[in-house]
Amino acid sequence: MHELSMADAIVKTVIEAAEKNDAIEILEVTIEIGQMTMLNPEQLKFMLEVLSEDTILNGAEFNMELIPIEIECLSCGFKGEADSEELDHYIPVINCPNCEEKNMNITAGRECNVKNIKIEKSDEDA
Ligand SMILES: [Zn+2]
Repeated sequence: MHELSMADAIVKTVIEAAEKNDAIEILEVTIEIGQMTMLNPEQLKFMLEVLSEDTILNGAEFNMELIPIEIECLSCGFKGEADSEELDHYIPVINCPNCEEKNMNITAGRECNVKNIKIEKSDEDA
């Protein structure tokens, strides 16, 4: 499943980063999800919580930030947020909001990144 493999990758990334920073606890993780990824933020969050059990991530707060799709239209030169429909379950239908053509570069909305991790560090001497 799409969300599960993505959640798995995110959990690994976060744990790795936390270990590098001597975290004793992870408080908050902010994740950017581009609308082009077709990931369901609620499902992804649920998977993250499941995968976090028995790890240092257990109990962390997951914040999902949706990144809208931005395009550069090759027909009229429009740059900005795209008109998108049916984003929930299928390949998004994207039109240029200016000329309604589909001839475009997608400049944002494909990402799925860990944007920010808030950790609790050990104050003790190592
Ligand atoms: Zn256009």
